[in-house]
Amino acid sequence: MTEKHPAPADAGQRKHARPLICYSVEKLPPFDSALHERARETMEKVDEVTIAPRDGGCFHVPAGHFFRIVSIEGPQVGDLNLWNAGDLGERFFSGKTRQLHATHVTTGDRLWSNLPGLRPMATITRDTLDWYGWDDDGAGVHDVIGTRCDPYTNHLLNGVDYHHCCHSNLTRALAGETGLSLHEAEPLVHDVLNVFMCTGFTRDTHQYFMKASPVRPGDYIEFFAEIDLLGALSSCPGGDCGSSHSDDSTPCYPLRVEIYQPVEGALDGWQPPARSGYSRTHGV
Ligand SMILES: [Zn+2]
Repeated sequence: MTEKHPAPADAGQRKHARPLICYSVEKLPPFDSALHERARETMEKVDEVTIAPRDGGCFHVPAGHFFRIVSIEGPQVGDLNLWNAGDLGERFFSGKTRQLHATHVTTGDRLWSNLPGLRPMATITRDTLDWYGWDDDGAGVHDVIGTRCDPYTNHLLNGVDYHHCCHSNLTRALAGETGLSLHEAEPLVHDVLNVFMCTGFTRDTHQYFMKASPVRPGDYIEFFAEIDLLGALSSCPGGDCGSSHSDDSTPCYPLRVEIYQPVEGALDGWQPPARSGYSRTHGV
């Protein structure tokens, strides 16, 4: 092992620099809970999709509708991808969402789109696991720090092909929904929101860890679609992610996606957010 470099004389002082929150998040558009609450009072379920265990599925949510991801039979983690339904090049940006909000998201947080769009695609309006907060291991629920389980990392580490990782489930779902080939659909699959997943970083080595999700049947996370969305959800082969993933050894359960439509007029005054106003000239 390579030896560490000696610490400089002022190492203690350098390590005690004051942490600063990177972004002035108080400048983000405020979460208008009154608008969502009013719309929620009148909304009616207009569609639902059941995602089979160890598989994926797609769903559409028009702007101004709500959707819920619901635990229905047992503790189960879901991996969520979102695209602009009219332009699959605009998709969920987990890294910026993490920087603007936190490692784990809950009610009031937005799911932001990639550059150059950088606008809210969806707003979280309900989270029945919001009681969880941060546990003694530093873990939280609904993470935007992990990616999705995938057959390449599994092949790298275990030397076998497994075809029901979330990456493959999302790829098959998107291909099936759009008519794209598997190889065309695959690059459109992106880093996920790990719905219901309980994760953190170990305190000593800062390694990514998972632990059994606290989700139980009846729990849900609810989103308000800010733009027309195509979503894909995978019921992770890790089940509650309390033991393993990328194999068939863990009990897995279906997840349900429910789409809700508010009555006409309930969203008066609301408009889908515009793409970023940056000129895109990059100084040229
Ligand atoms: Zn997975």
